[in-house]
Amino acid sequence: MSRDTLVKRQFGHRARLALPPAGVRAVDDQAHAARTLWNLLHAWWQMMPKQKRTLHHADAAIRQARMDIDFLAVLPAQAAQAVLKAYFRAWKNCWEHRADAPNFKGRIRTVMSVDIPQGRDLHIVRVHRRWGQVNLPKVGRVRFRWTKDLPVGKHAGPENRITGARLVKDVLGWHIAFRVQTLRAGPEPHQGPDIGIDVGITVPIACSDGTTYEHGAWLTPKEKTRLLHLEQRAARRKRHRRPGERTSGRLHRTYDRIAGLRAKAKRRALDWQHRTTTAIARTYATVVVEALTIPNMVRSARGTIEEPGKNVARKSGLNRSISGEAWGRTVTLLTYKAARYGGTLHKVPAPGTSRRCSACGFTTPGSRESQAVFVCRKPDCGWSGNADHNAARNVLHLYRTGLAPLPAAGRAVVRRAKRVKPATAR
Ligand SMILES: [Zn+2]
Repeated sequence: MSRDTLVKRQFGHRARLALPPAGVRAVDDQAHAARTLWNLLHAWWQMMPKQKRTLHHADAAIRQARMDIDFLAVLPAQAAQAVLKAYFRAWKNCWEHRADAPNFKGRIRTVMSVDIPQGRDLHIVRVHRRWGQVNLPKVGRVRFRWTKDLPVGKHAGPENRITGARLVKDVLGWHIAFRVQTLRAGPEPHQGPDIGIDVGITVPIACSDGTTYEHGAWLTPKEKTRLLHLEQRAARRKRHRRPGERTSGRLHRTYDRIAGLRAKAKRRALDWQHRTTTAIARTYATVVVEALTIPNMVRSARGTIEEPGKNVARKSGLNRSISGEAWGRTVTLLTYKAARYGGTLHKVPAPGTSRRCSACGFTTPGSRESQAVFVCRKPDCGWSGNADHNAARNVLHLYRTGLAPLPAAGRAVVRRAKRVKPATAR
């Protein structure tokens, strides 16, 4: 691809909103109205005969509902249309086997969100080095954190613009996620070296050239202690509740604080992932990773009825750290970032990469000395080094030779038995 070709890119950008308390209440109401509208629509759908389940009829029903029910009127008309569209798309996803059938949205477990489907309603202005201002329908002008240069004002054009946004509430409050569309010069082919990557628990990312990417704990010792205390407090309060008793305000506050700390850890992890994957995509032309199946790794510890897993507790600790590393997300980030910098990402099916010697290519029993050290036990080899580094070299080697050893037929084809419910539950 030459530098002259322009590439269309669509991405989301999320920023925290600085809403006054009244604004928070207003957007909360809108989100509840949007959720209620979804539920009404779902009830309507189930009630209607098949031939009447059309966009036209649904639209008419929504218009009528917005006139009849007072609290639905707080939802801007565009947002109501977005709910309708999302509902029909949900059915389409279900019919094309991408998702389950849409269902009612409960008050507690649903992520609160409001759509602003059209970018021209937003009137975004940058008012300060760190602040921008955006127009929220039926709420007014609201400031948001400016952490990325968005195509607004004179930087905007038919191809570089914000096409819409979505308000999303999490434990830190309301955020705005902009949908951005830009036209950029396509990347030149990357001239950098190749790299194999191994993912582990002791070293999060180990590369075949010996570099590693590491991180500290996501929470400071003080924060960890606080989280533990809060979790114990929540458990204690829960234990002393009588059956049917409502969750107290104090318990709710404890839950909120726990969620806040967990969200903080997650945010730090995501930040680290973004910085690391950008660094890798910038440096290397070809990135090779293992094709891991994380759900299987997590599930396999539990085992089946016939063969219950051994050391389940310890392995589920391992699983939690696999999930905590969110390797799947690292690969997703690497895929699009490699493409953006003109490189590519490859996956190799790589069973046994951590047990095979990367110098002689043989798997000799007992070669892996410990979690960290690999010493080849083959008499005339004796290569030793970091175990993760060894695995990363194997991954790269598999890609270079094009000989990714597919597991022997029979072993790989055997399907894991579906988990059987215990006899008592049947
Ligand atoms: Zn060896």
